[in-house]
Amino acid sequence: MAHVQLFGNEPYQPYNRVQLSALLAGEINRDALDIPLPSSCEKPNFSYIVSVIRHINTATKTVTDADGREHGFDILVIATGARAHVPSIPGVDRSGVYTFRNLKDAEFLSARVVRSRHIVVVGGGLLGLEAAKGLLRFNTRVTVIQQGPRLMNRQLSDEAAGRLQEQVETLGIRVIVDAGVRKIQGDQTIQSVLTNDGDIIECDTVLLCAGIKPNVELARAAGISVATGITVNDQLQTSHPDIYAIGECCEHRGLTYGLVTPGFEQATVAAEVICNGRAHYVGSQVASRLKVILSKPPLQQR
Ligand SMILES: Cc1cc2nc3c(=O)[nH]c(=O)nc-3n(C[C@H](O)[C@H](O)[C@H](O)COP(=O)(O)OP(=O)(O)OC[C@H]3O[C@@H](n4cnc5c(N)ncnc54)[C@H](O)[C@@H]3O)c2cc1C
Repeated sequence: MAHVQLFGNEPYQPYNRVQLSALLAGEINRDALDIPLPSSCEKPNFSYIVSVIRHINTATKTVTDADGREHGFDILVIATGARAHVPSIPGVDRSGVYTFRNLKDAEFLSARVVRSRHIVVVGGGLLGLEAAKGLLRFNTRVTVIQQGPRLMNRQLSDEAAGRLQEQVETLGIRVIVDAGVRKIQGDQTIQSVLTNDGDIIECDTVLLCAGIKPNVELARAAGISVATGITVNDQLQTSHPDIYAIGECCEHRGLTYGLVTPGFEQATVAAEVICNGRAHYVGSQVASRLKVILSKPPLQQR
């Protein structure tokens, strides 16, 4: 029986990232996020190790963790995901600028929203809108600034986006479309953002939800082919036949996905190929659902 070692660099057991917006909105508690792992009694051949993998050696077929320990492999699956894209806007490194990708981000944002008066969310896509709704607590004002011509411009037509904008505004979120952020302004603290149109929006917090960047550095440093993501064939193999890549870090037929379903489909195919030698991934149909925007915010007072 093969031994399966799972490495994760976040200091907790795996959790449901999709539910982070619900956590931010106060609709669920932290415990509801946990994804249970098999116990050593159930699956003695499985182990989960909290550690950063720093290096892949394709010649010796080993990975090295942050403590310098080497772990050998017959097959390696890279599933390093993606991180928030941080646009190069002047002022983006000020304190008070946040991203929303992991549990730590959600915890920082939850603490911030209690004392924030006005938060600007940069990006009117799926994540920006879910975050905006989640932040609409404790009487905090929220403004979404979308560079594209309409909300969720990749998924929605003008008409559908117009209706969505009405719904979002009904919740009390201000929406500004067709206007990127040129600068984040302030001294010790954030005071405002300057839009490309020259408008100044006063705020004390900025949340960047401007897309994602696949985590490809580990693969690239190991000499594995990388384009936008780690390039894989229909068997989810990288340029090294014993190394696979799945999820948001990989690129298949020129496409990277930012959703869970393609990742699950890729994982199923990769597992089938690894165990039985045959299966094909031909790409995924994508359908995204805005989870929280239509429900009412929880009643909470500052
Ligand atoms: C708030 C939020 C809401 C979302 N909602 C939806 C939704 O409703 N529907 C949907 O389809 N998608 C949603 N997504 C996107 C979805 O979460 C991702 O598509 C999915 O998590 C990608 O899975 P993954 O395994 O590829 O990457 P990840 O979930 O990012 O997992 C990769 C893990 O690998 C770790 N890692 C990276 N490098 C290393 C290393 N060197 N060593 C060890 N560990 C490492 C990372 O820290 C991370 O824990 C949402 C995302 C967010 C942030």
